[in-house]
Amino acid sequence: MAERLMARLQLQLAEKHARNLYRQRRIIDSPQQVDLSSEGKQLLSFCSNDYLGLANHPDITRAMKRGINHWGVGSGAAHLISGHTAAHHALEEELAAWLGRQRVLLFSSGYMANIGAITALTARGDQLFEDRLNHASLIDGGLASAAAFHRYHHADINMLEQQLGTVSKGCSMVISDGVFSMDGDIAPLTQLTACCEGHDALLMIDDAHGIGVLGEQGRGCTDGYTQQQVPVLMATLGKAFGVFGAFVAGSETLIETLIQDARSWVYTTAPPAAMAEALREALKIVISDAWRRAHLRQLISRFRHGAGQLGLPLMPSETPIQPLLVGEADRALRWSHALEARGILVSAIRPPTVPWQSARLRITFSALHTDAQVDQLLDALDQIQRQDH
Ligand SMILES: *Cc1c(COP(=O)(O)O)cnc(C)c1O
Repeated sequence: MAERLMARLQLQLAEKHARNLYRQRRIIDSPQQVDLSSEGKQLLSFCSNDYLGLANHPDITRAMKRGINHWGVGSGAAHLISGHTAAHHALEEELAAWLGRQRVLLFSSGYMANIGAITALTARGDQLFEDRLNHASLIDGGLASAAAFHRYHHADINMLEQQLGTVSKGCSMVISDGVFSMDGDIAPLTQLTACCEGHDALLMIDDAHGIGVLGEQGRGCTDGYTQQQVPVLMATLGKAFGVFGAFVAGSETLIETLIQDARSWVYTTAPPAAMAEALREALKIVISDAWRRAHLRQLISRFRHGAGQLGLPLMPSETPIQPLLVGEADRALRWSHALEARGILVSAIRPPTVPWQSARLRITFSALHTDAQVDQLLDALDQIQRQDH
């Protein structure tokens, strides 16, 4: 059976092993929460994207169970056939009202939303510009698009201005993470919106890590920016919302275009209606529980203050994503293993997810962490840093 191909795959796997780039899954035996049980061990987790601690919230799990009792488990078809229920529709309308956008379209995942939106909105002859640290799904959407694809240096508006200035034909689209997923910093939104307006470019922001966490009522990093300024707003519902899925928000024209042309939305089964019911409940909690955002902010400042005193390699981030830049992949792995030996789970993020020589420990906080748990993490990091010199 395809011996040459299989030999190549084996060689590639061996190479990844040798370079400390081999990836493996860990089996979790508890719900997603701060105290995880995994492979017979109790671990204090600092690596989920469940920023508000909603993934196992009793009101949301109850809403999903009620949803199953009412709607059953499967949607049975794509949205355009017979899979689009009143639950999906209500969720879209509630998200749109919350965000002050004309319309919202629910997708099965953020990956699919990005691929679908980018390929539907751009055509041959157009120019697409992305921050080079954008999430892989945005990069993949760019590669799949018929437009010419350009990347600019991270948050470098001057370079983007220059690139946009050379466009002589076709339409332009600019895409950026709102909060950068592996760095935690926030995109220069004021400059981006002004730059796009000046060059008649369509701006798309992926706020996977800002939604629920930043802004008034958790509206995300684009809170305060109008639909005119950020015409394509995408965010995911499997992170701070604690459930699953994603959406794109914007004008009637935008959403109707996606309904016609976003292939990753048209040609896939609608998510279960019970998931939409769980998300409607999650939205209520995101809006009402301001204490979760306030507590997160306090945990972040406690961590940054402590880490700064210990001389740990912090990155310039004000969000719950607080990576420590350790450099080499093997060093990141060593630190991650040393933390695990102390009962703390933090994942090592290595190339190609991040650029070469910039492997990091991606520490993330949840509203359910306590001050004492942050201190426990700082103590462990202090010990590991001393031993690693
Ligand atoms: C997680 C993430 C996605 C993908 O969303 P999923 O719902 O997990 O597929 C897209 N963009 C960014 C910036 C992300 O962090």
